[in-house]
Amino acid sequence: MPEQYDYLIVGCGFAGAVLAERLASQCGKSCLIVERRNHIGGNSHDHYDKAGVLLHTYGPHYFRSNSERIVEYLSQFTEWHPVEYKILSWSDGRYWQFPINLNTFEQLLGRPSTTEEMDATLAQWRVPIDNPKNSEEVIISQVGVPLYEKFFKNYTRKQWRRDPKDLDASVCGRIPIRTNRDDRYLSEKFQALPKDGYTKLFERMLATPGIDVRLNTDYRDARQHIAYKRLIYTGMIDEYFDFQFGRLPYRSLRFENETLPQEFFQPAMQVNYPNDHEFTRIVEIKHATGQKLPVTTIVREYPQDHTPETEPYYPIPAPDAHALYERYAALATAEKGVSFVGRLATYRYYNMDQVVGMALAEFEKLRATNV
Ligand code: FAD
Ligand code: UDP
Repeated sequence: MPEQYDYLIVGCGFAGAVLAERLASQCGKSCLIVERRNHIGGNSHDHYDKAGVLLHTYGPHYFRSNSERIVEYLSQFTEWHPVEYKILSWSDGRYWQFPINLNTFEQLLGRPSTTEEMDATLAQWRVPIDNPKNSEEVIISQVGVPLYEKFFKNYTRKQWRRDPKDLDASVCGRIPIRTNRDDRYLSEKFQALPKDGYTKLFERMLATPGIDVRLNTDYRDARQHIAYKRLIYTGMIDEYFDFQFGRLPYRSLRFENETLPQEFFQPAMQVNYPNDHEFTRIVEIKHATGQKLPVTTIVREYPQDHTPETEPYYPIPAPDAHALYERYAALATAEKGVSFVGRLATYRYYNMDQVVGMALAEFEKLRATNV
């Protein structure tokens, strides 16, 4: 007899874990999560390295949200460590306040200034474009070409191996541009890290009775001997359909960690390098976690192509990629008994809170239809 579950859930990131938790705790469903990696948490996983530094294993994960519902939901599984995420950009041999704000403008001028002066100057620098259609237009229409070239153009080329003109406006449009002194990287109302880390948060969610988790297990193998009523799939949508229309493009990264015998290496939790080096940023997450240790670990992020051997960290928000995704999405809509949820299965450049929101919405749908 094959093992029997109500739900087989592929992937143990936020999408899979939230759905398992809701289905088990609210509807008494039995859920088996299969995860091909050797740990829970998906890309939000964190761990302590050999030096005892708590690291975000797959790049910095700054939790933020405008949704009280999502924060309240997650607060069942964690307390929070409030953080004002502040970063710097390194260009022309010096640090710049980033994202662009009044302090950055004063650095450019080399003297004190005001919001009025910055507004008036940007009005002159701006390239008038009514409806920015791509990532170049969205920035030059706000701050003009020189600041675009200083902070955005080369970072974006490095990160995506595409010209900003060939990426949706939403990519660079994620980065706020302000004419006041608000120098936080993000604008959402709620900004905090799980107090004991993401992995602990996941452990508490997954401790819900009715959930089994099997690590080092690929869906392709598991489905041979598990019987289930419904499938929740949070992996790559093109892989689910055997790449029948060709591979969707993703961007990957290589992380290079270095532990140093000093309390801190750099003046902020993240320094971006738009124009120097092959890496895009150096992250020293200790600034954000508030961990007190005499040593530190920094992580350099090198963008790389996605191949069958590298992780698909980013869907690529661009018209050609969306067009290919739509073909897979049509197959997904026609697929009976399967929910496609999360960043890889819906091919969206989503943050953690957005993925939690998507999973909660899918749960409500499943509950309403009693499946
Ligand atoms: P994932 O976390 O990717 O989980 C999917 C899981 O499915 C993976 O663990 C994968 O191994 C597994 N899987 C796939 N296929 C199979 C299969 N066939 N069989 C078994 N298992 C399978 N968000 C923020 O809110 N703030 C940030 O600062 C932030 N920074 C980020 C930085 C980087 C470098 C990256 C890559 C992402 C960042 N994110 C951030 C986004 C965040 O990681 C995602 O929103 C979130 O992890 C998505 O959750 P998910 O469950 O959809 O996918
Ligand atoms: N970006 C940039 N310069 C920067 C920071 C960001 O050009 O200094 C652009 C780049 O295209 C990047 C996107 O804005 O991929 C989104 O940046 P974010 O820091 O949100 O990226 P993530 O943390 O998701 O990698």
